[in-house]
Amino acid sequence: MATLPVARTVKALRAEVSRWRASDERVALVPTMGALHPGHISLVKAAQRKAKRVVVSIFVNPAQFAPTEDFSKYPRTFANDRAMLAVAQADLIFAPTVEEMYPEGFATTISLDGPAKAGLEDAFRPTHFAGVATVVGKLFTQCAPDFALFGEKDYQQLKVVTRMARDLDLPVKVIGAPTVRETDGVAMSSRNRYLSETERAAAAAIPRVMKETAEQIRGGASLSTALKRGRAALEKAGFSIDYLEARNADTLAQPKRGGGEKLRLLFAGKIGTTRLIDNIAV
Ligand code: AMP
Repeated sequence: MATLPVARTVKALRAEVSRWRASDERVALVPTMGALHPGHISLVKAAQRKAKRVVVSIFVNPAQFAPTEDFSKYPRTFANDRAMLAVAQADLIFAPTVEEMYPEGFATTISLDGPAKAGLEDAFRPTHFAGVATVVGKLFTQCAPDFALFGEKDYQQLKVVTRMARDLDLPVKVIGAPTVRETDGVAMSSRNRYLSETERAAAAAIPRVMKETAEQIRGGASLSTALKRGRAALEKAGFSIDYLEARNADTLAQPKRGGGEKLRLLFAGKIGTTRLIDNIAV
């Protein structure tokens, strides 16, 4: 198999994309931080259904990690990522250095409201979405894709990026793709490799309890009762919970009294030193 080309600079990325544009080929972008797993590959497949050419960016973005978070120990598995993307038949990897993305003197950040201030991830990672939006905004202008694929696994991120692209009139269609799960229901995540065997087994409580909670809500239980039960079950499984909340599936606002709106159940919590997130439709 031919090795998959890698662009390390914005100039090299743009040169390749321009060649495709000259032949009228559409382009889709899949932004990632690498440490790829089948969840990421499902985004590549979804991208291929939308566009002839697929660029996968691999960039562990320092701006979205707080100083106390796992930036330096975040898994970096480039050779394996490249091999997986070659098998998946992606067209190009964009893997810039930190200096290429944030040259000396870099001084601009995208400031967010709406879904970025829902009181979910933002309450626990207050600088995270500004970092995400800034790098994704840059990737969108660097690559100028027709489509960009994001996983529902990071549901608030999907809403933040969708809102940003719309608000800034960026000519890209943001598309969400369903969460890919392990056989026991645990959402695939690059961070699952931090889990011990016992913690990994306990993580199966997340999808199980979320499913039970969603069923109770659909069955007419009051939100507060269903969520209280769900939180208790997750604590019993060993999680220290940041949140288990039901929110409006589009805006992430608190549900209105009386029901009738589409809801999303969202969870974040820690087991040992590893923080995991997940969400499902109610
Ligand atoms: P990251 O894991 O942060 O590099 O995520 C890169 C992209 O892959 C994001 O759009 C994530 O939402 C998406 N993603 C991560 N895990 C999954 C999964 N299990 N299923 C589907 N998409 C995922």
